[in-house]
Amino acid sequence: MPADFTSRRAPVYADVPDEKWNNWRWQLSHRLNSVEEIEKVLPLTESERKALNSSGLFRVDITPYYISLIDPDDPDDPIRKQVIPTDKEMVPFTAMMEDSLAEDKHSPVPGLVHRYPDRVLMLVTTQCATYCRYCTRSRIVGDPGATFSQAEFEMQIEYLKHTPQVRDVLLSGGDPLVLAPKILEKILRRLREIPHIEIVRIGSRVPVFMPMRVTDELTDMLQKYHPLWLNIHVNHPNEISAELAEAADKLSRAGIPLGNQSVLMAGINDCPHIQRDLAQKLVRIRVRPYYLYQCDLVEGAGHFRTPVAKGIEIMEALRGHTSGFAIPQYVIDAPGGGGKIPVMPNYMLSMSDHKIVLRNFEGYITTYEEPTEYTSHDPKTCAYCQNKRPEPGQAGITGLLDGERMFIEPEGFELLHERGGVRHRLKDEHKWQPLGIGSGEPEENL
Ligand SMILES: *Cc1c(COP(=O)(O)O)cnc(C)c1O
Repeated sequence: MPADFTSRRAPVYADVPDEKWNNWRWQLSHRLNSVEEIEKVLPLTESERKALNSSGLFRVDITPYYISLIDPDDPDDPIRKQVIPTDKEMVPFTAMMEDSLAEDKHSPVPGLVHRYPDRVLMLVTTQCATYCRYCTRSRIVGDPGATFSQAEFEMQIEYLKHTPQVRDVLLSGGDPLVLAPKILEKILRRLREIPHIEIVRIGSRVPVFMPMRVTDELTDMLQKYHPLWLNIHVNHPNEISAELAEAADKLSRAGIPLGNQSVLMAGINDCPHIQRDLAQKLVRIRVRPYYLYQCDLVEGAGHFRTPVAKGIEIMEALRGHTSGFAIPQYVIDAPGGGGKIPVMPNYMLSMSDHKIVLRNFEGYITTYEEPTEYTSHDPKTCAYCQNKRPEPGQAGITGLLDGERMFIEPEGFELLHERGGVRHRLKDEHKWQPLGIGSGEPEENL
């Protein structure tokens, strides 16, 4: 293990025997959530104390392992801010929503969010090892009463069985890795029984909050269900401890590719140098940065939000300055439920026919000469194009490029442009049907 990944234990835990400390069940049952418990580890600020004493706050629970990573003398510690509430959480802001990604609206059955053509998000629990103050799913997470029933799980499985376009299932919650091992295994087994589900992914912060949960028993179980991918959630280099490094190593050795999703947050990681260090430490423990999220418009997270320009600045500081595979994709998860939208600096400066003008990370400006002769790819003779998987109603921009349709109009567009007029002699449907586009019958009709 690289020597600079350290291991910390708050002084209050000095006498806890190792076999207890390293037992995830001990960690779970000794989580801290009150002023009295937390003050044994670090002195609280007025704002934190006020939040912890108020009612109706999003759930607080912190593992002894994770709270030990906080510098008790620093009220601005980047780990502290992720898990200890302040009274800023109670401040409302413009555009704030309870369910900002409209996940519940896009759930055909409870806990199954089917937003993209070929993959679904499956919520399997509302419980986590520790609760993040900026949780995008705080409307249900942390509430044991909101958790999914056996009957709802069966509805999720039933939906998946009858939806053959789904080839990728992403398990999330809550945190799937806090489930009792038998229950998690049952979920994986039931998914594997569905032939069209090609890959299963897990989104989990357990390796970060409670790395001792990654036991040999767990990885032995998980690797029976390959191809299995896992994304963890690290926001700051201080979270990369010797214990997390070991947990990541175990998961990698079990053949599970690891990715990282982080959230850009004011006062935590809104700095190009922190982000570069994070990216480089992650790849040292064989975790590939995957997404950097713009903070969602969710209740309680207002004080963590940054301008989007901060994210662009960070991406500018990564591309070219570090290994390509250490660079996450910066995304805004569309408010109202449009999925993740990548945003990045502009590298293309201009173009003419057969030439594009580009700039690199250093400001070097070059041109790429395009071919003057190009035999266009022919979908009619391409086996992949002929057998392409349908994307029911979701082809979008690809559909425009494919010639499925020529335009996408806002709702009510046609009606508005009738202007309450009459059907008259100049109106003929055929006049605005683009030749060779749509109807799945290109060119033949020419
Ligand atoms: C993030 C997300 C996915 C997975 O998206 P990828 O870009 O494939 O990682 C799937 N469904 C929902 C609802 C999501 O929010």
